[in-house]
Amino acid sequence: KLVSREFHPQPTVIDVDGIKIGDGSLVVMAGPCAVESKEQLLEAAQIAKAGGAQFIRGGAYKPRTSPYSFQGLEELGLKYLAAAREATGLKVVTEVTEVEAVPVVAEYADVLQIGARNMQNFRLLKEVGRIDKPVMLKRGLSATLDEWLNAAEYIMSEGNSKVIFCERGIRTYETYTRNTLDLSAVAAIKHLSHLPIVVDPSHGTGKWRMVKPMSIAAVAAGADGLIIEMHPNPAKALSDGPQSLTPESYKDLMQDVLKLSNFM
Ligand code: PEP
Ligand code: MN
Repeated sequence: KLVSREFHPQPTVIDVDGIKIGDGSLVVMAGPCAVESKEQLLEAAQIAKAGGAQFIRGGAYKPRTSPYSFQGLEELGLKYLAAAREATGLKVVTEVTEVEAVPVVAEYADVLQIGARNMQNFRLLKEVGRIDKPVMLKRGLSATLDEWLNAAEYIMSEGNSKVIFCERGIRTYETYTRNTLDLSAVAAIKHLSHLPIVVDPSHGTGKWRMVKPMSIAAVAAGADGLIIEMHPNPAKALSDGPQSLTPESYKDLMQDVLKLSNFM
């Protein structure tokens, strides 16, 4: 298989306009769960940049559990992300939730995110397989490693070999945390595949207090990057406030994580 180490023994390094993912350095993607307004996103991007991140994250198309929850600003949100890139130089990673939106998201994003709920949306996987932009593929809500690797294969088999895995926790019998962050997946994916893997400790735990310790553990386990939810004012966030870092806790996390990654 194209995704496997046997097929491609050397690690794949994905170059996003000069930012390398998978070359042994640590890449950080930070920002709010959802793009809520131009002001909120620009403020988040400035904080993300000052802390040392390379990417601004933020959903413009939101796959919400409830149909009554905020669904995202769609193309307007993409425009705010592009404005944040313009203002800060950060790259943009944002989710695409449906086949019809792939062209417009690809027009604005540097990396397209496939969310956990769409990991086995095979039409969507094939569609992003036909574009020339990196794709970050989140692990499904209860996906095995084999199912996840096969999802990446769907993208690669269409011609796009720039795939980044993202471990974001899986459903287990534990209910204290939102998901169970499976850091053993980092070591397993590194063995089974040549593709880079980043870790999302925000969705992986659902609790902001656990984001820093799990980020440190992810870096120690060999993750190529982190994707972190951070909001200028988490108490006012339209989604995922309880797992979002404040600007202060984000800065504190970055100081320790960058120290560790320099040491590794
Ligand atoms: C997100 O990154 O905001 C998100 C919806 O994540 P996931 O698909 O992992 O739930
Ligand atoms: Mn979120």
